[in-house]
Amino acid sequence: MQKFLLIISLMAIFSAKSQTLQTPSEITGFNQVTSYDELTNFVKLLDESSDILSVEIIGKSVLGRELYALKFTDSYFSTNPSKIKVLIHAQQHGNEQSGKEGALLLVNKLISPEYAYLFERIDLVIVPQVNPDGSEKNARHNSNNADMNRNHLIMTEPEVMALHQLFDTYQFEVTMDVHEYSPYSEDWMQLGYRKNTDILIGFNTNPAVSSKIRDFQKKHYLPFFNDYLSSRQITNGIYSPGGPPDSAYIRYSTFDINDGRQSFGIQNTFSFIQEGMNGEDNFKQNLSHRAQSQAAGMLALLEFVYQNKKQIKKTVQKERSKLVKGNDIKEIPLQMEHVGNGQKMQLPAYAYHSKSDSMIIVNDFRPVVKPTLSMNKPYGYLIPKTQTELVNWVHRQDFTIIDLSSIEKFYFEKLFISSVDSIDFEGDIIPFPSITISQIESSVKLDEYIFVQTRQLKGNLLILGLEPQSELGLATYRQFSFLMEAESMFPVIRVRLVSSEK
Ligand SMILES: [Zn+2]
Repeated sequence: MQKFLLIISLMAIFSAKSQTLQTPSEITGFNQVTSYDELTNFVKLLDESSDILSVEIIGKSVLGRELYALKFTDSYFSTNPSKIKVLIHAQQHGNEQSGKEGALLLVNKLISPEYAYLFERIDLVIVPQVNPDGSEKNARHNSNNADMNRNHLIMTEPEVMALHQLFDTYQFEVTMDVHEYSPYSEDWMQLGYRKNTDILIGFNTNPAVSSKIRDFQKKHYLPFFNDYLSSRQITNGIYSPGGPPDSAYIRYSTFDINDGRQSFGIQNTFSFIQEGMNGEDNFKQNLSHRAQSQAAGMLALLEFVYQNKKQIKKTVQKERSKLVKGNDIKEIPLQMEHVGNGQKMQLPAYAYHSKSDSMIIVNDFRPVVKPTLSMNKPYGYLIPKTQTELVNWVHRQDFTIIDLSSIEKFYFEKLFISSVDSIDFEGDIIPFPSITISQIESSVKLDEYIFVQTRQLKGNLLILGLEPQSELGLATYRQFSFLMEAESMFPVIRVRLVSSEK
């Protein structure tokens, strides 16, 4: 009996008119979201029905659900050096269903001959669902109650680790993290408006990301994205959280490196976040349009990458090699703030009173990230082997560890935390220490430490993670708050090259 039902349901999935598949949600007329079991069956079916697609399990959720990576290539994945590698991942937040549904719609399109040309230049991986445990409950967090998109620095969650292992394996030149935003908040409603854009795009905003990459995103991708989606009747704009305008400023999205986009971006990746508008009453409301819009946004990126492959690839290679050689930015910003540039923002909004589209003028618009405290980049850090939390973190992040004794001229800086105050970070109050630095010559026993150098792809992530005055650092997390005790030595020692000081 069960077998018979399975055959019936497989037949239903193949739609008669085009011999293409339909996604599980599509079959219900988008009245249901795709469950984990349906997703599992669907990706198996896709795998069997397409030569360019293969499914890989990249890890498991907290509750043991498998995480699927759908790899597209017209040869062998990542073997053709002239191709560009793109990673699109959706639904880190389990209650943001349209990302997953859009990704499945996209996958279904991409296996048709119409899109085969993309894979002449692109090797693509789509992870349609990073957080299956959350999705099954339509909950934002995973089963450890962790917000995955605040976990990319401390990296304690298996789902986030799996995603970064995938990234580290292939070092994708382009990534996109797909989300949903909710415009239905109380404070906006009191103002009489809500945001009303189908698809928003966010760029790298952390100033440690190569300015060449940041500029290219804005100058070239933004107009392309706008044309592509507008011509398909999908409203679009730049992801700009905050407001409502009479009580809070509006800015471009965070520069924190604990989210998917910035944690890849800081490795000089063309890294984006896409935010679709979610439903008001329930997660199924208007799901068809939401999912179609998300899929179109993802396809816009693929089309752009296809058309600009050479330039993107060349830029990423060049900017990444600077990271590895240590000749990218000399000064790394540890603290920064969102500031205005004199421009007002015109924000498309829905007006509740007239039940129509409207435009709000945002006076306090802060699109610029301005560094307020920077430091000269060190050569690396010594981490005491006895600090197991830190050592484990180094391994989870998979930083490259080298033998310092093979390097000739270096010196150490020990940091003394004299006091710990607090500062405002994007609305959160976080600890901020006053430190004094003492230079020491020979009193360090190297075999009691591991040495992690900053001349690697994740070098700037390392600095922002370890520096006590970094407002994005480990010490601002509960798990690592022990690092920041007043009137004590900071356990991590800075290493500087003598030659670099000239
Ligand atoms: Zn989200």
